[in-house]
Amino acid sequence: MLKQNLEILENAEQSHILTREEIVSLLADDTINQDLFDTADRVRHKYVGDEVHLRALIEFTNICKRNCLYCGIRKGNKNVQRYRLSKEQILDFAQKAVNYGYKTIVLQGGEDAFFTAEILADIIREIKKNNVAVTLSIGELETKEYELLKNAGADRFLLRIETTDKRLYEELDPYMSHENRLRCLDDLRRFGYEVGSGCLVGLPNQTLESLADDVLFFQKIDADMIGIGPFIPNEDTPLKDAKGGDFYQALKVMAITRILLPNINIPATTAMETLNKNGRIIALQSGANVVMPNVTEGEYRQFYALYPGKICINDTPEDCKNCISGKIASIGRTISTELGFRQKMID
Ligand code: SF4
Repeated sequence: MLKQNLEILENAEQSHILTREEIVSLLADDTINQDLFDTADRVRHKYVGDEVHLRALIEFTNICKRNCLYCGIRKGNKNVQRYRLSKEQILDFAQKAVNYGYKTIVLQGGEDAFFTAEILADIIREIKKNNVAVTLSIGELETKEYELLKNAGADRFLLRIETTDKRLYEELDPYMSHENRLRCLDDLRRFGYEVGSGCLVGLPNQTLESLADDVLFFQKIDADMIGIGPFIPNEDTPLKDAKGGDFYQALKVMAITRILLPNINIPATTAMETLNKNGRIIALQSGANVVMPNVTEGEYRQFYALYPGKICINDTPEDCKNCISGKIASIGRTISTELGFRQKMID
């Protein structure tokens, strides 16, 4: 099996093609992990280079109307202190991020009806005056709302599929439909966003076949960005007793995604670092080329508690910038000064 999987990897490094069975075989074989990570690192180097794109993350509301079973800010969790930043606070954090040199502002929040598309469009127009890219991560919206936000200047949108296993998805995300998720991703593509998706690794009843389907789905929709995170059970959710995801399994899914989608942007996710104190650097050496430092200030960081043990909740934005810059330099990589869009032309 070892030899066969090494051959599979060697071929995929050139062709960027893997079958479902081959992905399952790679995921099941832990003897080839380092070969897989090294292959993904070479593909990353060849297609997107050694620069790391930093995206400044503002977690602007932890109020959400949804009840996803795995999520710490689900509506049903009464143990989390809720907050909603004002427009002035959001613009203040964004301005500071611009002053720190960030080229992308990511606005992330729960599905909070207070923030209508009109309110968000005003905020986006203000931020765009700084010649930075704006990424949204605010869940499912109506088609016309996605259109309005794109017209206001939003560049990118992150909407994880979470899992392509429809049955599992609808079990874990009550009253949400897989079809609507796909409709949202279609809308985003149609309106010209850079489209981000991704999945959780280690969900209860998730199989290797299902993870293989996730990666093939990312390739099928030609995603521009993919965020992969291990599932970390939150004690205030119905999945508190679940086993949770494994750092290396999540890293493997991420590495395979890099091999199949060589020129996309892939973040080293915060959840990776929660499971391994060097997780983001290991991820950057296994296919990732993006880091999303948190620029939300003060106590809000700890209230945006999607999962326990989240890193950096007591740090300031300055701490985060210095810390991640040092880590990136320590592995011989540099921080990009560009807006960091996907470079589809490079081959
Ligand atoms: S995963 Fe997203 S949509 Fe689901 S409860 Fe959490 S914030 Fe809300």
